[in-house]
Amino acid sequence: MLGADTDVPCLDGRMRRYVNLDNAASTPVMAEVWDAVEAFVPWYSAVHRGSGLKSQVATAAFEGAREVVGRFVGSRAGDAVLFVRNTTEAINLLSAALPPGTRVLSSAAEHHANMLPWRRHQVQLLPFTRSPEELCTACERALGAARPRIDLVAVTGASNVTGEVWPVGELAGLAHRYGAELLVDAAQLAPHRPIDMAGAGIDYLALSGHKLYAPFGAGALVGRSARLRDGEPLLHGGGAIKLVTLEDVVWADAPDRYEAGSPNVVGVVALGAACRRLLELGMDAIAEHERRLSGRLWHGLRSTPGLRRLTLWPEAVVDRVGVATFTLDGYRHPLLAAILSAEHAIGVRHGCFCAHPLVTRMLGVPDAEADRLRDELRAGRSPALPGAVRASIGLGTTPADIDRLIDALGEIARSGPRSRYAHVAEFDEYQPVKDPRVWPDVPLAGD
Ligand code: PMP
Repeated sequence: MLGADTDVPCLDGRMRRYVNLDNAASTPVMAEVWDAVEAFVPWYSAVHRGSGLKSQVATAAFEGAREVVGRFVGSRAGDAVLFVRNTTEAINLLSAALPPGTRVLSSAAEHHANMLPWRRHQVQLLPFTRSPEELCTACERALGAARPRIDLVAVTGASNVTGEVWPVGELAGLAHRYGAELLVDAAQLAPHRPIDMAGAGIDYLALSGHKLYAPFGAGALVGRSARLRDGEPLLHGGGAIKLVTLEDVVWADAPDRYEAGSPNVVGVVALGAACRRLLELGMDAIAEHERRLSGRLWHGLRSTPGLRRLTLWPEAVVDRVGVATFTLDGYRHPLLAAILSAEHAIGVRHGCFCAHPLVTRMLGVPDAEADRLRDELRAGRSPALPGAVRASIGLGTTPADIDRLIDALGEIARSGPRSRYAHVAEFDEYQPVKDPRVWPDVPLAGD
């Protein structure tokens, strides 16, 4: 990974190797991706209708990336691979393309990206469950009881809060039995587990390049081209049409129909290069390697006094990608994250991770308190929000990185922070009272 051995300043004046445990938010750039981008950039040119050789080469690379991304997720022959910015856009694209009033069955545990786009249709939510089996039972019951029937089941492949891997193969079987299709939000699954859309029966799948070691702004929606044939495009504009008159438009077929405007060619090439490299490394081997790291993280956290890990299915034995979310007695989430950064050079994430219903439920926030916070926010105030801290691993994570986190948490829990911090109410963040750190000279960062 580029930047894997970057030293950063700490409050005690020392430089420490930066430990990136925020891979679930965004991953660093894989060296092979950077190499591909560097090799491509001199050939960069507008794709599709350019007649010059550079345009033709760029178009071939762009379309080559489409093929690799489809292969990476085990798509069926003829599936559409649509390039978008990220998972959020992919799911919004599908939501806009499906007919108004589509009946969607989703869950209360989703990321907001797989929750809010469905509110324009008729959405029903599966309740919080205690195991994957209970989830499947609840799903089957809801599918069986729905009148008229459900059109689409939309669930995550792996939780961005707890790391728990969802039983997407079983859910696909259930959806199909009741005449519905399945969308998997694979933002967290795709970087860490092999995906076989054809084998598992996944009808649509959304992913983000910036979580796949290719943070250049491209993601994808992969899915049934027959169902996407007549859909309403999310973006209206050039490139998505066959003909436009002053009153009318004849939309193009997928993928062009859904890719209006000049595409992010470099980002797409980077995403294709990442998928190709991950296929070479072997997603089974990656999953095995990361299971060991994830086990080290998950078990290591047990040793910290006062630390509580958040899980959806605490009693169940489930596969888990390397995401661990936790609270530490005596420390609000923004304070703990600030101490880990300023004193230990460890980057984590804190808050509710764009999954407010799930996180507030796991934290046991009473409904009345959630209502109070909503009212405060509506009134323009900045109340202290509930939340937790999340550590997440990726391909660049080492056992030493995980040990650094466990050691730091142990020190904080036993001895407290070494420095003093002040609360900045406006942003609900904490900052060191004295901060001697000098920032690196990074273009635009110092302005
Ligand atoms: N779904 C899940 C499970 C995620 O973790 C994320 C990113 N945190 C998203 C959707 C949204 O991804 P993006 O921000 O790349 O659109």
